[in-house]
Amino acid sequence: MTSSLMLCLALTLPGADPQLTPAKQAAVAAVDERAAMITDLGKKVWEFAELAFQEHKSSALLADALEREGFKVTRGVATMPTAFVAEYGSGKPVVAILAEYDALPGLSQAAVPQQQPLPTSRAGHGCGHNLFGAASTGAALAVKHVLADRKLSGTVRLYGCPAEEGGSGKVYLVREGLMKDVDVAFHWHPGSGNSAAMKSSLAVIRFRVRFTGKAAHAAGSPQKGRSALDGIELMNVGVNYLREHVPTDSRIHYVITNGGGRPNIVPEHAESWYYIRSPKMTDAALIFERVKKIAQGAALMSETQQEVHMVTGSYEILENEPLAKLMDANLRAIGAPQFTDDEIKFATELRQNIGVNEGRDTTLGALDTTIGNFTSDVTNGSTDVGDVSWVVPTTGLSIATSARGVPGHSWSTVACAGSPIGTRGSIVAAKVLATTTLDIFEQPERVAAAKADFERRKGTVVYKVLLPPGPAPTRLDDLN
Ligand SMILES: [Zn+2]
Repeated sequence: MTSSLMLCLALTLPGADPQLTPAKQAAVAAVDERAAMITDLGKKVWEFAELAFQEHKSSALLADALEREGFKVTRGVATMPTAFVAEYGSGKPVVAILAEYDALPGLSQAAVPQQQPLPTSRAGHGCGHNLFGAASTGAALAVKHVLADRKLSGTVRLYGCPAEEGGSGKVYLVREGLMKDVDVAFHWHPGSGNSAAMKSSLAVIRFRVRFTGKAAHAAGSPQKGRSALDGIELMNVGVNYLREHVPTDSRIHYVITNGGGRPNIVPEHAESWYYIRSPKMTDAALIFERVKKIAQGAALMSETQQEVHMVTGSYEILENEPLAKLMDANLRAIGAPQFTDDEIKFATELRQNIGVNEGRDTTLGALDTTIGNFTSDVTNGSTDVGDVSWVVPTTGLSIATSARGVPGHSWSTVACAGSPIGTRGSIVAAKVLATTTLDIFEQPERVAAAKADFERRKGTVVYKVLLPPGPAPTRLDDLN
């Protein structure tokens, strides 16, 4: 045996993929060493199940874990008490790893394969953000270990991002300029499949329209009244006609949040809450302009006044091909999660209980253990990761943490996110995030390629934060 071969073997950790560099193998091993801790963080955040902007225990748990291992932690950033930035290392490149940890209301659920709300909670992790936060934290800790051990230069920064669910926490971080010196950003999302392909999302503009009229006795003196509800209804009718004349993949949804109090009073105040979504913010913004004209028309017809209040907005994710290719290669080297018989049994039972037992879903198995092709497409949802991707070259991955075919934002996703299925996926996610971060530290010249792709895709579009002025709310319901 030659001495160089012996050295090579000494640097190769047992079970590590030879396609990965020794530093990346060390990162994978560092995640494995922290698997129990990552599991525990994910489980605790799942139990806390805190809603948007109220993730006090969850954010403290993750920030404390990072601080204990030598990260410099700044808490309560960008007017959000539950946001934090944890940093280790120095100088360039600066790599951001995003973490989320907010739950959803009305989704209390035990980690069992049948619907069973917990008596202690009304919320649940129906989007798996408990795993998102835990795995991203685990990845940052593993990267720190390798940076320190191998004296690599650069900064790893974990962004604790509150209120992804409707609150656009990351947009406040961007508005505050907290990502200005970041070179590249990585994120992931729990799901039912494994892919690091280029995935965009729908841009969204969220706003409320308030109509003000004149109250009057609805039977005694209706001619003296001007109905704010008429304004709302006429506006909604106008918007429903507009649907035919928007780009095909656009979506417009609304609810009436105030339609007046009693039928015998002509409503003085009424309000509708709107979302406009489109694969491109440039298109969503054009639709928004037309909807505002419809609101003006409805006010004219009903002799009422109307005001449009911006709630929040998120851009579509700007894909980044060089970064996505790095992440895809690491995912393939590490491999998709492989589940135990008990986990497959859990997923199979859960799928039976929610009626996912027909057609395509049955031929593929209850849990996805394959890796999707490297493609580019758009998911039918919106995320504030989009805003990060317009200021920093960004890429992400999705990992199977729940049974195939379960709907997002449902009790079945909560059950999986609290089960060993979720944990198993989160460990893989941590490894892919950590190894891709090391790609940047080992070859900082990769930043230039990522930035060139970012500039090319951004083109002439000027990114603009869509938030009302002032600090972030302390509860999502206060966003108005
Ligand atoms: Zn989510």
